Amino acid sequence: MLRAFRFGLVAIVLLGVAWYLASLQGHVTVEIGSYAASASTPVAILLLVFLVAVAIVALGLLRGALGLPRRVAAKRSRARRDAADAASLRALAALAAGDIGAASGHARTARRHAPDAPLPLYVSAETARQSGDATMAEALFADLARHGDAGFLGWRGLLTARPLPQDDEDGLALAAERARKAAASYPSSGWLREQRVRIALGQGRFGEAARLATDAPARAALAIMASREQGGEPLAIDWAREAVRAAPELPEAYLALYQARAKAGQTWRAKRVLKRGWRLAPHPDLGEAWLAEISAPLERAAAAARLAAVNPGHPESEALLARTARAARLTGEAERHERQSGGKGAWICKSCETEHEAWQPTCRKCAAIGSLGWVRHGTAAPTPPLLPAPQPAG
Ligand SMILES: [Zn+2]
Repeated sequence: MLRAFRFGLVAIVLLGVAWYLASLQGHVTVEIGSYAASASTPVAILLLVFLVAVAIVALGLLRGALGLPRRVAAKRSRARRDAADAASLRALAALAAGDIGAASGHARTARRHAPDAPLPLYVSAETARQSGDATMAEALFADLARHGDAGFLGWRGLLTARPLPQDDEDGLALAAERARKAAASYPSSGWLREQRVRIALGQGRFGEAARLATDAPARAALAIMASREQGGEPLAIDWAREAVRAAPELPEAYLALYQARAKAGQTWRAKRVLKRGWRLAPHPDLGEAWLAEISAPLERAAAAARLAAVNPGHPESEALLARTARAARLTGEAERHERQSGGKGAWICKSCETEHEAWQPTCRKCAAIGSLGWVRHGTAAPTPPLLPAPQPAG
């Protein structure tokens, strides 16, 4: 309805204009040199309108003709990019299928079409990495790292192109630098955080590693190392307390806190740490620390009884009582406790079950951080001690 009305209105206006033009009087004469042309005013106006329309069309055609090469080039580059994208996708699918040969062919096609585009670079680099060509992979990932949005993929590739060097200072420093740049392009990456923990651990920067670790057992193990690295400094106590907070079931954490407090001359508080450790996570090393300053066998047996009293009946308490009674030639006592104490104890990796002689921050077989737990053979899984409510770290 509105449309019909509008159409009618335009028609009326046009008719009005035409009628007005047709009714104009007089002539328009144009003289160029000796030539002269004359027309009535309505015809001259129509001619002028026609000439302007022709000029507009001609200008449009000229612009189209001038832009043609650019449009052709853009179309060709779009076609190349589409071909590169398609080949990259085929390469990714082949990589996912574990078909490195096919992936490598598609990656080559992709890079032929778009040598510097991020996606072809990424699939080529990843193919090189998976086919074991670390040098080529590193070169391609380095190119990729220069791309703004894809930068993280490049840095990540550079960090994974080769296994992390363990005892190579320069290699670790280079990895740390790459990790720093990767963090700048993707600060919230959990994977990267873990890499940075490993790098700092390799470099012996335990405090930094502990600060970065999000997993509680790993943080505890690294905090123990950081505490020991600090020696007698007050920071040693802070780190050890952090270890106890992160892993209250880990005997080594109490031992580290005991050592830090003892070194700082806090003898009484150090002893209290041993008692608390014995209640929550008894271990022979805590018992040895408790008895360290006592040499007479009978006195040692009596002191052992005082420590065992905080966790009565626990296999570790029984083992400690058996050991000290045996040394004090209290044979009957010793035999009675030996029966209760279970077998030999060991540090066992919770990830791969490898046994370790002594506690260490990483498993020597699977390299998991903070995975070692103390287990005494011949006893059921370590029973949670009957304990009062947890107390703040002493
Ligand atoms: Zn392991």
